[in-house]
Amino acid sequence: MARYREAVCRLCRREGMKLYLKGERCFTEKCAIEKRNTPPGLHGRERRRKPGAYAEQLRAKQRMRRVYGVLERQFRNVFEKAERLAGKTGENLVVLLERRLDTILHRAGMASSRAQARQLVMHGHVRVNGRKVNIPSYLVNVNEEVALKDKLRENAMVLQARELAGRQSVPSWLEVDRENFRARLTALPKREELTTPPLSEQLVVELYSK
Ligand code: SF4
Repeated sequence: MARYREAVCRLCRREGMKLYLKGERCFTEKCAIEKRNTPPGLHGRERRRKPGAYAEQLRAKQRMRRVYGVLERQFRNVFEKAERLAGKTGENLVVLLERRLDTILHRAGMASSRAQARQLVMHGHVRVNGRKVNIPSYLVNVNEEVALKDKLRENAMVLQARELAGRQSVPSWLEVDRENFRARLTALPKREELTTPPLSEQLVVELYSK
């Protein structure tokens, strides 16, 4: 399965903001954005012209893709699915991305980053309503319960993720049992609660509507 293999902090530097892709490190002074918030590459420090409308739309799309760790083709598929649903396409897009199994695990504090959550899922450590699911893009439905395999409860990586999650708030659509590494999706994700990092779904809709 295709995935991004380069340095992830470059992605934040390209966007000029923290995308929180590396778990604990993102909250320390080692964060690349804290150290040098310049675009990557040889000419990163050079002054740039003000971006045009297309460049802004493109950046909005790339930013959203990177936040959720989704490659181009897959992102386009999610967008097309969002278009077919009733309601606003932009909001549908964000809700679909938030319902991904890897995102739910990360938000519930069972993984410190989406990349780590994705790895847990692909290695078969995750159960949805008691059944093994090894597809990170699986869309969790309301009332479904996501849990880690019992064997993983002593895993240092998972315990560290739980400790980190203890310092952050849990979104209102998740009911989390941190002790038992379980979470239930109680409602559809709410766009207005997703403020960090900033997402501009309207620009993504404009880009794909050309
Ligand atoms: Fe790297 Fe995280 Fe900082 Fe982004 S927010 S630059 S991923 S440490």
